[in-house]
Amino acid sequence: MALPRKSAFLRIDTPRNVHQVIPVLKVRKDDTMHVAICSPRVWGYATHWDGKRTIRCTLGTGTCICKSGQMPTRDKGFVLVANGAGQLLGFLELTPMAWHELQALSTNIDGLRGKVVKVFRQYGSMKGRLMVEPWGEYQGTHPLPKDRDPEPTLRRIHGLPDLD
Ligand SMILES: [Zn+2]
Repeated sequence: MALPRKSAFLRIDTPRNVHQVIPVLKVRKDDTMHVAICSPRVWGYATHWDGKRTIRCTLGTGTCICKSGQMPTRDKGFVLVANGAGQLLGFLELTPMAWHELQALSTNIDGLRGKVVKVFRQYGSMKGRLMVEPWGEYQGTHPLPKDRDPEPTLRRIHGLPDLD
């Protein structure tokens, strides 16, 4: 399994003011990565596009911009991923379609951990569909990192206060 070259094809949103930085990884055009999935299942969030960037829907806390009007919502999925040596890479951001394709690789809802997938953009462009293909099982000697909830990372990226 090739080690991903992070700087070559991933835009990394780094949380501010955080001791343990877990980057959010977005697959860019013209490259391919193979990652081992650490999460048992995809973490899913509703998001909005505010004209500049994707922000998480925070309607559950009563403060989301979608409350004030019609605001399209787009689901995004995240899975914690590692490289072939079992080193933590970050949260891989998935489109709704890639999310469902990835989740479909597991016959039970919590069966994704340990699967290796190839991710890339179809047609080599940012507008190309994000593709997820099965690539076997993780065979590294180190145990995969334990799963983490992406919520604290996403809240920091979006400038929201930490939850208790
Ligand atoms: Zn919202």
